[in-house]
Amino acid sequence: MNGDRTRRGFLGWANLAVAGLGLAEGKLAADTRPEPEGEDYYDKLGVAKIINAAGTYTALTASTMPPSVQAAVARAAKHPVRLQELQTAAGEYLARRLKCEAALVSAGAASALTLATAAAITRGNQAAIHDIPTDVTGLKNEVIAQKTHRYEYDHAIRNCGARFVEAVTLADYEAAFTERTVMTNFFNAAEQGEISREDWVRVAHSHGVPCLIDAAADVPPISNLWNYTQMGFDMVVFSGGKGIRGPQNAGLLLGTKDLIAAAARNNNPNSDTVGRGMKVSKEQIVGMVAAVDWFLSQTDAALEAEFRRRADRIAAQLKSIPTLEARVAIPNVAANAVPHLLLRYDTQRIKIRPGEVMAELRRGTPSIELNPQTGKKAGAGLATDENTIVVGVWMLEPGEDLIVARRLKEVLGKAVV
Ligand SMILES: *Cc1c(COP(=O)(O)O)cnc(C)c1O
Repeated sequence: MNGDRTRRGFLGWANLAVAGLGLAEGKLAADTRPEPEGEDYYDKLGVAKIINAAGTYTALTASTMPPSVQAAVARAAKHPVRLQELQTAAGEYLARRLKCEAALVSAGAASALTLATAAAITRGNQAAIHDIPTDVTGLKNEVIAQKTHRYEYDHAIRNCGARFVEAVTLADYEAAFTERTVMTNFFNAAEQGEISREDWVRVAHSHGVPCLIDAAADVPPISNLWNYTQMGFDMVVFSGGKGIRGPQNAGLLLGTKDLIAAAARNNNPNSDTVGRGMKVSKEQIVGMVAAVDWFLSQTDAALEAEFRRRADRIAAQLKSIPTLEARVAIPNVAANAVPHLLLRYDTQRIKIRPGEVMAELRRGTPSIELNPQTGKKAGAGLATDENTIVVGVWMLEPGEDLIVARRLKEVLGKAVV
């Protein structure tokens, strides 16, 4: 009964859009999806289901798992297994598929950063696994990063008792290595930084220091899943629940055999470790593996074409809005490098600011989240300004592009003077 309500709820949105736009009902692929089982706990808890026209933002629960991944997770939930056996088998399978020596499923990219740091600090030193983060006297614990690569995820690294040493120029970097240097970190999607990935790895390796790279949000392209290990980075981090569309609380740590083994020793299910609180369940592990299988079955060209189609469909519905110019742009940074729809208009003719449009769509039913670059000056690799709305189309479910288009048309249309 509740399942029925869920289905009606979804079709309700879809039909609304179809009716509003005068399209044939058969066009929505979502109509034919099998009905999911179980009670709708979002409804039961009174939690609003949103349309994600923003992107893979953590606070918006990032991505949804494709049906094949959801099914694999549901199936994994039905049987107990030996957790260590599952982790090991998953790691070996992922390493083969992702062309690296070794892999570990973590509880997200931030967790993978922590485990990577723990691996670098405790490698070959069993006692240190117990000692970090508080008793680091005598342990190597300096992590070098470019000044422009310092970011909010530094905390995941500091969780191991590490401290940062900053470099700006290549000469700084060369000079930053000491007998206490344990690792370097490269923020792959940083918008600035003087030192190239190649130089970064070369110099660190000349000092015998391993390199970590945070590429959490940096697929597509699909090949990024092996580009950085092949470039020589010793450990590479991806979020499981962003572009790969696995469980939101899963991630990947890829790298060399010895470091990944050291990371695993610092991880759940081992107690008395920095990773014990970052439990990865059987459902998450299986979901992560299934998501990688799903992602590798896609092509960059087909994904991009689909996102462009969505952007074009929305833009086509907004043709009648005066002064509005639509264009499709791919951010020129490593993160979220997929087509986004940019809508720029003259706020003298349409008397509503992009930020107000964003708030209006959020207040509506269904509630829609636009991309946070909306109404902001250039950033996140997009040439936006205060008169630009940004629609992130890649996380939309089938049919939702038309709902977003209808709401934008309503809200902008009303404000035309
Ligand atoms: C999202 C993100 C993370 C954290 O990923 P989780 O999987 O949510 O832990 C870390 N680093 C960067 C650069 C990110 O974009």
